[in-house]
Amino acid sequence: MAQLSDDCFAFGGPLMSVDEAVAIITSRIAAVQETEIVPLPAADGRVLARDIAAPLALPPFTNSAVDGYAVRASDLPRETEQPFPIAGRVPAGSSADAAKPGYAVRIFTGAPMPLGTDTVFMQEDVRTDGAGRVVLPSGLKAGANVRPVGEDIPLGQLALKRGQRLRPQHVALAAAFGLTGLDVTRRIRVAVFSTGDELASPGTPRAAVQLFDSNRFMLMAMLRRFGCEVSDLGILRDERASLANALKGAAGRHDLILTSGGVSTGEEDHVKAGVESVGSLVLWRMAIKPGRPVAMGIIDGAPFIGLPGNPVASFVTFVHVVRPTVLALSGALPEQPVAIPVRAAFGYKKKAGRREYVRVSLRRAPDGALEARKFPREGAGLLSSLVDTDGLVELGEDITRVEPGQSVGYLGYASLM
Ligand code: AMP
Ligand code: MG
Repeated sequence: MAQLSDDCFAFGGPLMSVDEAVAIITSRIAAVQETEIVPLPAADGRVLARDIAAPLALPPFTNSAVDGYAVRASDLPRETEQPFPIAGRVPAGSSADAAKPGYAVRIFTGAPMPLGTDTVFMQEDVRTDGAGRVVLPSGLKAGANVRPVGEDIPLGQLALKRGQRLRPQHVALAAAFGLTGLDVTRRIRVAVFSTGDELASPGTPRAAVQLFDSNRFMLMAMLRRFGCEVSDLGILRDERASLANALKGAAGRHDLILTSGGVSTGEEDHVKAGVESVGSLVLWRMAIKPGRPVAMGIIDGAPFIGLPGNPVASFVTFVHVVRPTVLALSGALPEQPVAIPVRAAFGYKKKAGRREYVRVSLRRAPDGALEARKFPREGAGLLSSLVDTDGLVELGEDITRVEPGQSVGYLGYASLM
């Protein structure tokens, strides 16, 4: 388990910027050390534990990029077309004999280039002359339509970096090298709790004054997208001692403890006192909307994060606090989601000095531009606002207003997972 000092999340200022939060997390949290080998079909989403230099050049041999006719460029006519007798036929997967000078070889995509040839005419660009010869036009560049050995990746080149979160294309590259398994960091173990007397678990009776717990299922689903092994530890009641016990019990067995709710400073917010009785805790007042204080702490050396209870605040602070923590713990390289420019179809006013996220849907305007339309309401408790939108418009600390038509940065939900 990660071992952190009690004061590692201390922060001096009154209001913490998103960048400061990410910097503290990425500099204080160390990756788990254990690694394991996973077979390729199970590697998607895992984090690569070591660099991989290409053990094989790609492509491994020089081959034709098209179906057509292979020739040697020095045999080709400069100005006029010219018939070539055809000698040999090389389908993909068969080996080729050396080519005779002055002949064309019938060849197919992916087949090895016959020794002596260096250029391929596409079959669509030639004709046969009825006498079994192929008529080749002039003007084709030497080397055309050929994929030289190593043109994709030369032998020995650094091809996959340690810390890479593996996606399907990385798994494909490992397979192209002939690897059957990859060395990855072990999955990090995350304990997830909800807190609040007003919550009932789906599947249990709900009193009239209760609502079903939704955050826990959202957070567990998000964590699984980061390859975490998630323990669903249910709902903690608003009571300091039992809350403290449950958190302490989870600390020894997990790399990260995550709760939602109960981190404001009202007298019914028991997470702060609960964590302080078994570990240490600081409340980060983050300059982010939606989002309220986020609690950061240490329980028995394991990091603790307490997210706000309102679902949208929980979602947004997950992205900025939990996401970098999980990436750091699992040894992944930091990933800064890149906002793409779109046109605002809304006006908006905000305070300087705080970063705000506006829930938006994307659509293509009649002039072809991508336009972001704001969800009509703003409450941080509105789950429909996350369900009915496509992503977030990120408004930086310096921005104080958005005029309709202005370019703004858009982060699709998929890019945040
Ligand atoms: P709190 O931060 O505990 O004061 O909660 C703020 C708001 O979020 C309250 O309206 C809670 O009922 C709601 N809330 C807290 N936890 C959850 C949860 N797990 N699922 C859905 N709503 C929640
Ligand atoms: Mg609460």
